[in-house]
Amino acid sequence: MIASPLAATAIALVVGLCVGSFLNVVIHRLPKMLERDWRAQCAEMRGEEAPAEDPPVYNLALPRSRCPGCGHRITALENVPLVSWLVLRGRCSQCAQSISARYPIVELLGGALAALAIWRFGATWQAAAACVFLWTLVALTFIDFDTQYLPDNLTLPLLWAGLAANLFHLFTPLADAVIGAIAGYLVLWLVYWAFKLIRNKEGMGHGDFKLLAALGAWLGWQVLPVIIVLSCVAGAAIGISLMVFRGRDHNLPIAFGPFLAIAGAVALFFGQALAQVYLP
Ligand SMILES: [Zn+2]
Repeated sequence: MIASPLAATAIALVVGLCVGSFLNVVIHRLPKMLERDWRAQCAEMRGEEAPAEDPPVYNLALPRSRCPGCGHRITALENVPLVSWLVLRGRCSQCAQSISARYPIVELLGGALAALAIWRFGATWQAAAACVFLWTLVALTFIDFDTQYLPDNLTLPLLWAGLAANLFHLFTPLADAVIGAIAGYLVLWLVYWAFKLIRNKEGMGHGDFKLLAALGAWLGWQVLPVIIVLSCVAGAAIGISLMVFRGRDHNLPIAFGPFLAIAGAVALFFGQALAQVYLP
């Protein structure tokens, strides 16, 4: 069945939808888990007892998901990716409070990106690695959009996973991956310090350096210019239109991570071709 590209793509779509459902949990819970962790660490440093949290146990598996409106526990049938949301028409089965369209969108993204990876790379290890890369980028995009924070426990594993993948030559020679990781970090680190010295404020977060380092580790230094140009053009276009059409204050920060992540996903599929434009 794997031999048939269409069947493999269909399987990837279904697996990706389920992973997308898990990504929703990661996007929603990981920032809250980190905040709890920081509160506990602060208390420990002050020599106090860890603060009581409600609910006491909170991780990616527990407690089970509930409707924020009425507390109704989401049953397995109501948790089928995409289908449940469509059948329930985006509402809780008990209190009819609307469920954000973001949940099925993330599930669909998980499925569509996995299908695209299999379609592009075939049923190979390269495609499996590409799926992990793309799914992590989806989680980072939404977490950064919500919280303006790119958690280390996603960006750093993404970085070393890229180096590990290229140890087996999956996307680029290992030397190019190592240079990509270093150059990706340094480029934004330099931009950060230049901005800080000239404007005396922070233009971006450290998570952005780590994310670009990770993208360099996966795709090699050759595609870094593609990623930087794509993310800056998209970021500037969206930033300026927010200011013009929504009257947004130009001093308000905009998360840069989503643009880097989207540019990284584009570069996975088209980076080599785009890099040919400027590389001999
Ligand atoms: Zn409800």
